[in-house]
Amino acid sequence: MSSASLAAVATMNHEVLKPMPETMPAIRGYHAHVYFDAETMEKARAVCERARDLFPVTMGRMHEKPVGPHPVPSCQLAFAPAAFADVMGWLALNRDGLVVFTHPETGDDLADHRDHAIWMGDILPLKLAMFETG
Ligand code: ZN
Repeated sequence: MSSASLAAVATMNHEVLKPMPETMPAIRGYHAHVYFDAETMEKARAVCERARDLFPVTMGRMHEKPVGPHPVPSCQLAFAPAAFADVMGWLALNRDGLVVFTHPETGDDLADHRDHAIWMGDILPLKLAMFETG
């Protein structure tokens, strides 16, 4: 293959791959935290179990007390970037009135929970101090 046609192939591949903009950090996965209280706990469990059964989602425990940065009881749904559209679309239509806090995982916990947050229903204040260093 001539160097000219190699260059053409390289250009073509570059265009096909369309790398992410350099300003966008790599997203390894997402968490959707479904929030609940004593009254809505079973509703939240049902939403999380349906999401787990319908999609490639890992369901965490039903935390009946606030854990980590979360201000209220919650259950975590973890999924890969490839499942984002399906899971988020489904949650938008099926969250049953519950607050859902979704964040990407880029390796920067503070930014992921504060700057990259995606809220459904309400915005609750997170306990972000645990991510602030220095
Ligand atoms: Zn999380």
